[in-house]
Amino acid sequence: MAILCRLHTAYGDALMASLRAALPEEELRPWPETGDPDEIEICMVYRMEPGFLGPFRNLRMISSTGAGIDHFLGDPALPRDVPLVRVVDEEFASRMADYVLCWTMFHHRDVAHFLAAQRRREWAYRTMRPASEVSVGVMGLGQMGGLTARRLVAQGYRVRGWSRTPREIEGVESFHGREGFGAFLRGTEILVNLLALTPETRDILCASTFGQMPAGGVVISAGRGGHLVEEDLIAALRSGQLRGATIDAFRQEPLPPEHPFWTTPGLVVTPHASSTASLETTVNSFRENVRRLRAGEPLLHRVDLDRGY
Ligand code: NDP
Repeated sequence: MAILCRLHTAYGDALMASLRAALPEEELRPWPETGDPDEIEICMVYRMEPGFLGPFRNLRMISSTGAGIDHFLGDPALPRDVPLVRVVDEEFASRMADYVLCWTMFHHRDVAHFLAAQRRREWAYRTMRPASEVSVGVMGLGQMGGLTARRLVAQGYRVRGWSRTPREIEGVESFHGREGFGAFLRGTEILVNLLALTPETRDILCASTFGQMPAGGVVISAGRGGHLVEEDLIAALRSGQLRGATIDAFRQEPLPPEHPFWTTPGLVVTPHASSTASLETTVNSFRENVRRLRAGEPLLHRVDLDRGY
């Protein structure tokens, strides 16, 4: 029995070599050298066309090469009786926390104002509020959002969090469920999106959500493109309901050159670059789950297919 690796990551061939070194007793087959589909017991894959996993009738584990799994769940041919696991760890989440902290400070300290003033050769002094007066609301307190919220607390921001189920994080005012959403938004000046993409959270970054935040707010989204109603974001920035946004994930990637986001004032586009699993994270996470599968132990970071994340 063998492991099929269909790897589209920043690390390319190096990841395949590292996986071989980490799992010397396993037979690893780099896609498309699949061989007999009945011999494929584990598949590590990220980008794939719908139905790709269908021919592997003896699969015992599917591993994403990253944290996102929404495209697996969108595949009607996904074998639902096979465990699906993700690659995540503290280091991966730490990179995301860095991203959010960086853009929170960018908007809080109005870096765009100083950059624009310099281009005009203008001495545009302005005072700044301390972080302790700035309220940052983190939607999603999972692997990424939990650590991000803690990082923002450590930096001195007033942090609130929103999740599906109650979460307790020291220093974070927590809200949960639809019933807690309005109160969460009303006190949120900088809104950070790190939600899983599910039918309940699709389109959640919309006019109604922006309208419940205090006027002049900011949105930072590193979740998924499906969370964001793009025309509502543009309208909120034009009207001043929002004064700024940083968006990392889009409905269409790469973002096409003619997309209005590139030129919307107040909007910063980053190319799905907020965080990536390091080669070590990917290898260690996958090796541990292969070990657990072989030993009959519970797998790490298993996706709950009914819950949708
Ligand atoms: P997790 O599955 O660990 O956490 C998801 C969070 O979303 C949980 O806190 C969960 O609540 C919350 N949630 C789910 N449904 C709802 C709902 N209906 N209402 C309120 N809260 C809800 O995911 P990760 O932290 O690993 O990833 C977060 C997001 O970031 C994902 O969309 C992922 O794809 C994206 N991502 C993007 C990257 C990039 O490069 N741009 C890199 C890595 C991740 P609860 O805690 O109650 O379960």
